[in-house]
Amino acid sequence: MIVINESFVAELRRVLRPEQLMVDEPMRAHTTFRIGGPADYLIFPSTREDVRMVFRLLRQYGIPVTVLGNGSNVLVRDKGIRGAVLKFNGPFSEMRQEADCIVAGAGALLKDVSHFAADCGLSGMEFAVGIPGSIGGAVFMNAGAYDGEMKQVISKVYAVGADGAYAELEADALDLGYRHSVFQTNGQVICEVVLRLVPGKPEDIRAKMDDFTQRRESKQPLEMPSAGSTFKRPTGHFAGTLIDQTGLKGLRVGDAMVSTKHAGFVVNAGNATAADVLGLIAEVQRRVHEVHGVKLYPEVRIIGEE
Ligand SMILES: Cc1cc2nc3c(=O)[nH]c(=O)nc-3n(C[C@H](O)[C@H](O)[C@H](O)COP(=O)(O)OP(=O)(O)OC[C@H]3O[C@@H](n4cnc5c(N)ncnc54)[C@H](O)[C@@H]3O)c2cc1C
Repeated sequence: MIVINESFVAELRRVLRPEQLMVDEPMRAHTTFRIGGPADYLIFPSTREDVRMVFRLLRQYGIPVTVLGNGSNVLVRDKGIRGAVLKFNGPFSEMRQEADCIVAGAGALLKDVSHFAADCGLSGMEFAVGIPGSIGGAVFMNAGAYDGEMKQVISKVYAVGADGAYAELEADALDLGYRHSVFQTNGQVICEVVLRLVPGKPEDIRAKMDDFTQRRESKQPLEMPSAGSTFKRPTGHFAGTLIDQTGLKGLRVGDAMVSTKHAGFVVNAGNATAADVLGLIAEVQRRVHEVHGVKLYPEVRIIGEE
């Protein structure tokens, strides 16, 4: 149930610009799945100092916090999110070149970082051009595609801890593995990322980006809302292939559907609810296990009030 603390809101309004705070805001407007009930408070920080200040108020009022980037790897439950959501996007997305490095604010979109790197004649971010996430979300997930993953390019991360302390983490402290980073357990919020790239010819970099974009457009259901690959890759298999071989393309629960174009994607075919998606995920897991003996685990992060 939504509970709005008016004095918390008043304090936030004193320190944030009006467009940095929304109250009782449906999360379906802020996720690529176009699914999700309301967050009590949706806050858009624009500086590291904003993050520290908001954390101080959250601690003072005992309000829980959820962090989001571009909302492209989450399923928000239908009851929404109690407490505050800190969303890193536009205002936190500045980028700059420093020699062979690019420094990007957590909210910078991967597409924009890839194009900026190409403009700078720096290679290494081509793989990320079609991943619809923010650089913060990509570090958190160690996102990857084709021949690349974030692990190969991260040099350093500037973060803020739940206690408000600044932290500077070198790449070898990030515990980067398949769709895993230390931020999944340490409670820190990623604010800025330093990417170490290598000089390359802009035309070669762009040709690689175009190739990845075409491959993605031909295989993935980009015309429908989704959160990308629904399941993690099980060792020795591909989730999409197992689901396809089980004959589940087009399977529906309500408006949630296994994509007919790529079985690894659950798509929102209309007005799907989170309950529809969760029901479909459970059914796919059950049938794939029955036929192949393989257990699938969601890659999509399921958040919000149960
Ligand atoms: C069509 C489509 C295609 C996709 N293709 C790929 C692909 O090829 N490869 C791939 O790896 N992924 C892919 N994805 C999934 C998704 O885009 C990535 O996981 C991306 O990195 C998520 O970034 P985000 O900013 O949207 O994160 P969100 O979905 O907003 O958040 C994901 C997680 O990261 C955390 N998080 C986000 N920002 C921060 C921060 N600043 N500090 C701390 N924690 C944070 C959140 O708390 C959450 O747990 C795809 C998704 C879609 C919809």
